[in-house]
Amino acid sequence: MIRTENVGSPMVDAEIHFVDRGTIRADPNFAIEGHTVASIDDPSPDRGRIEAPVYNLLIEHPAGTILWDTGSHPDAGDGHWPSEIYAEFEHYDAHERDLETALGEVEYGTEDIDYVIQSHLHLDHAGGLYRFDGTNTPVFVHHEELKHAYYSAKTDEGSDAYVAADFDHDLNWQVIYGDRETHFEDIELIHLPGHTPGLMGLVIDLENDGTIVFAGDEFYLRANFEKRRPLGGGLLWDKRAWFESLRRIEELQRRYDAKVFCGHAPDDLEALRGGFS
Ligand SMILES: [Zn+2]
Repeated sequence: MIRTENVGSPMVDAEIHFVDRGTIRADPNFAIEGHTVASIDDPSPDRGRIEAPVYNLLIEHPAGTILWDTGSHPDAGDGHWPSEIYAEFEHYDAHERDLETALGEVEYGTEDIDYVIQSHLHLDHAGGLYRFDGTNTPVFVHHEELKHAYYSAKTDEGSDAYVAADFDHDLNWQVIYGDRETHFEDIELIHLPGHTPGLMGLVIDLENDGTIVFAGDEFYLRANFEKRRPLGGGLLWDKRAWFESLRRIEELQRRYDAKVFCGHAPDDLEALRGGFS
């Protein structure tokens, strides 16, 4: 990967800020296959909901300011999301944690963003794209994702978690075709199919923090990664592909001693809030 090619040269001088987009309440069975199961010992287990953070990343990079994901639309609970989806994935503070407010907390505005990278186009990740409607801001997305998102949103097939009104805008799409592509020094976008066909992770080499993998929704929670527990069926497009993507991230962890962050893990919050450089 990047580091081996750059032997002897300093790593990129980039800084990553956590952009807090609020919290989704959902049954952990969506995140982890068989999370809560009845048994002889526990015939009626509690089926509570967990609080899953939603976040974006603001990357100050020598090439420009990069935004990783755009979170939920502020009207998620006011009709922008289908009510059946919102009932199960309650992003109760989407309105107050809108993109502009959250970026303001790290002293940026959408007008400062030079590039957007979409890990995928699910409704809790693509809901701020309307802010870039009609602009020239490049928006990176994997071709498998863009195709699946339109297919899902415009037909009764595919997945329910895409809302056309999130991504069907006049956007400067930059379509990624490769299994791994580099568009910014020391940042690699890697294709991680499984949760969706076109999910991408972001791998970055930083001076102070070393190699970091933002795995996006390949892993909702730490147990998906650490215990190799697949996502629940509704959030898993292809289980075999998911396991292959898991092994790919495990290899990055072994080879580069990479730190791995999940898409919605409360346990990651403290480290993420601290930022990286
Ligand atoms: Zn997702």
